[in-house]
Amino acid sequence: MNAEIITIGDELLIGQTVDTNSAWMGAEFSKMGISIARKTAVQDKANEIKTAISEALSRCNLLLVTGGLGPTKDDITKTTLCEFYGCGYRRDEAVVAHLEALFEARNRKLLDSNIGQADLPELCETLHNRVGTAPGMWFDVNGKVLVSMPGVPSEMMNIMIHEVIPRLKNRFQFPVIVHKTAVTVGIPESLLSKLLEDFESRLPAHIKLAYLPSLNMVKLRLSGRAENSNNLPDEMEKWFNELCHICRKHVLCREDEIPARYMTRKLIEKNLTYTLAESCTGGFIANQMIQEPGVSRIFKGSVICYANEIKISELGVDPQIIETLGAVSEPCAAAMAEGARKKFRTDIALSATGIAGPGGGTTEKKVGLIYIGLSTQNGTQVQKFHLFGNREQFMARACNAAMLMLKDCLEREF
Ligand code: AMP
Ligand code: MG
Repeated sequence: MNAEIITIGDELLIGQTVDTNSAWMGAEFSKMGISIARKTAVQDKANEIKTAISEALSRCNLLLVTGGLGPTKDDITKTTLCEFYGCGYRRDEAVVAHLEALFEARNRKLLDSNIGQADLPELCETLHNRVGTAPGMWFDVNGKVLVSMPGVPSEMMNIMIHEVIPRLKNRFQFPVIVHKTAVTVGIPESLLSKLLEDFESRLPAHIKLAYLPSLNMVKLRLSGRAENSNNLPDEMEKWFNELCHICRKHVLCREDEIPARYMTRKLIEKNLTYTLAESCTGGFIANQMIQEPGVSRIFKGSVICYANEIKISELGVDPQIIETLGAVSEPCAAAMAEGARKKFRTDIALSATGIAGPGGGTTEKKVGLIYIGLSTQNGTQVQKFHLFGNREQFMARACNAAMLMLKDCLEREF
């Protein structure tokens, strides 16, 4: 299969909107083993659109098009496609019913311009848009498939997942592709690759290992590809188990997941309550963890204790510790975690105290130093880290480090 993308919209060419649609589609296709050969961006102009389409169709047999499907006059993709294919319109009653239901639910009046979105080129199959008003269109003419979808990323993705990809799997021959991802934390990719040197050298040619580093974590993705093979999933499972075993000290999870969300899910599964005492991270870790739905069952609340007096008054940190050793110290992190766990009566408490920078560092305590504490009824432990990057990166790295500590604790104690 040869695939190309055309994105349509003036906004894409004047820098008002960044073309995230192509990036998403490229990523989805690469997961399925299909590479996109080319992408083109064009203005909302009929002749530009027609030229781009006919050029692309001369090279490829699958063309993905997004944009220009709104109900307003500036969006002309649908009429242009009708002209391009030389066909008339039909009204799709299922789309009319969907629009009526959608507008009623939003308590808005259905306008003629909206009803017009149910008039589609006769030659296309309708691609139902569950999350918006503009349906997608599937043309399969002269052995070439053209898919037209709205520009709104959430609508495009929904149509791709529910309507386009299943049709493509029927229409084209796809290779068998299996991806397996593990998330590691706290070890740089260079050290990981040293650890995995022998493993990598033994991998068969059809299985590849990719390192995807970001903010104190590295995703390890194993990708296997076969033209038609039933045992690829088993083979991949075997290699993936070995990979995770070699890196076991650093693997946070064996799926492509955000560390804070993954760990929060583990806490929910185990019904363990938790709280946080955050100084330098200012609530960032709590914010990341509450992204997971259902967290209210186990998260009681937390203390953002930026100032020393709050560490003392709210968490009972001994003022002596702060005076003699400073707030960025192991005993302070321990006292913060213990104080928070007792205050909120939770099973687990995490604490973070450090120097996010760019100012505030000294020769003994450099920017990037952070102590993360973890307290349970069995005791309190603290780990010291040196994290680098700007403030935003510091927070994200700290959060990931805390999640690895939490994972080790759950394995040890719960
Ligand atoms: P349209 O289908 O042309 O009505 O697109 C509606 C909106 O989707 C535009 O206003 C853009 O904000 C957004 N959009 C269009 N094309 C893209 C694209 N390639 N990537 C990301 N967003 C887009
Ligand atoms: Mg547009």
